[in-house]
Amino acid sequence: MRLTFLGTGGVWAAPVHGCDCLACQRAVADPALRRRPASALLECDGFKVLIDGGREDLPEQFPPGTLDAILLTHFHPDHVLGLFRLRWSKAPSLDVFCPPDAAGCDDLRRHPGRLVFRDVEPLVAFGLGPLIVTPLPLIHSRLTFGFLIEGRGASIAYLSDTIGLPSETQTHLAARSLDLVVLDCAYPPGAGPGRNHNDVGEAVAIIERLAPSRALLTHVNHELDCWLAANALPDGVNAAADEEMVALC
Ligand SMILES: [Zn+2]
Ligand SMILES: [Zn+2]
Ligand SMILES: [Zn+2]
Repeated sequence: MRLTFLGTGGVWAAPVHGCDCLACQRAVADPALRRRPASALLECDGFKVLIDGGREDLPEQFPPGTLDAILLTHFHPDHVLGLFRLRWSKAPSLDVFCPPDAAGCDDLRRHPGRLVFRDVEPLVAFGLGPLIVTPLPLIHSRLTFGFLIEGRGASIAYLSDTIGLPSETQTHLAARSLDLVVLDCAYPPGAGPGRNHNDVGEAVAIIERLAPSRALLTHVNHELDCWLAANALPDGVNAAADEEMVALC
């Protein structure tokens, strides 16, 4: 099983339009430091699952026949922009497993094109090719599920977008040995109130409780990239980068 990050940025990811902070200047100078919208590709035994579809170039990234399913955490625009382009296609239908959020995003659910939205239930596991997937409730400004993904003896908890973790999700994950936790972290430590995303202090506390073999932060905003340029994360915790690939078995 392996996971490739296609987009690790939050909505204020470097380079932010009109910003000249260190992180944004670096991202303009070096495209490898840019963070694109939320997307990741999970592969297991040749089965390919897209997790979130924030990138607008999904049709170019995934020609017909190259994706088996999509797991969607929630219907915020930065997670579904690419689905607006992927839906109008002559390719075969494609299942999108998502939270039961009837409103969706604009007309995406009303006019899904080739996409088939399938509502999933929290903490009810389902089979997906060689994988077992369990939707995990998260804490965000609209209905959002993370996913526990198990296959080939490996397990990944993909937890974005969230601030903190609901007790039922914490309890479900605490009973498992996790190879990798991918966790929302948009802000440096000490970020103020009124947020929908973790800061570093909150993210590290969650990771300490879950005790995975490895943890990667995603949904990173430019202020956090500035902080990371001058500060270190604890051992075993890193910020993911676009195009980074993690092989688990
Ligand atoms: Zn900036
Ligand atoms: Zn969101
Ligand atoms: Zn988001």
